[in-house]
Amino acid sequence: MKIGVLALQGAFREHEEVLASLGIPAVEVRQPEDLHGCGGLILPGGETTTQRKLAHSYGLWDPLARLGRQGIPILATCAGLILLAKCIDGEPGSSLELLDVDVRRNAYGRQVFSFETPLAVPRFAVASGPPDPFRAIFIRAPRIVRIGQDVSVLASHEGEPVAVEQGNILGLSFHPELTQDNRFHAYFLEAVRRHKTTQVGQMQAAVGDYASRK
Ligand code: GLN
Repeated sequence: MKIGVLALQGAFREHEEVLASLGIPAVEVRQPEDLHGCGGLILPGGETTTQRKLAHSYGLWDPLARLGRQGIPILATCAGLILLAKCIDGEPGSSLELLDVDVRRNAYGRQVFSFETPLAVPRFAVASGPPDPFRAIFIRAPRIVRIGQDVSVLASHEGEPVAVEQGNILGLSFHPELTQDNRFHAYFLEAVRRHKTTQVGQMQAAVGDYASRK
């Protein structure tokens, strides 16, 4: 199982280091061919406008949209989340529209471009009781200003969603790769494993179906 990390700009190396610490090989995705054989994708934080321009000029925009629609698990952080949103405030029609949320860039106030805060993530509950809070680092983070009805909220900050999930997409407005806490990456890798098992099952069913008709 290998994971593709969009490596056009931004914090892709940090995600690769987290994957390495979990024993998972990462592929740096810079051209469409790099996507072959990836079981999941990570879209890192960085600068949305630059990432969008590079993704278009390297021919990656449409393949990313297609794979996302086909159900490949995607972990998108900060700028990655912005690129996946349904609509970016003030920039309509400029995103991949794979996640039914609207976002506003750099919307946590001029004075606090960056901050750190503990987040409660009930999904990380362990048998022994409630989970430890996740220390989330926000860097010029986007605000999620609307969520669709199929979107689940995994964590909120001051009543606003900051970690959301919809089907194969996990979107975080902060930077989980900058802490030593790998729980969001581990959660994503579980989704990748489940997706792979489903695909193998579907393939076996199709082969069985074909064989029985011969
Ligand atoms: N502020 C950046 C943007 O809007 C995103 C910040 C980040 O990814 N840390 O592109």
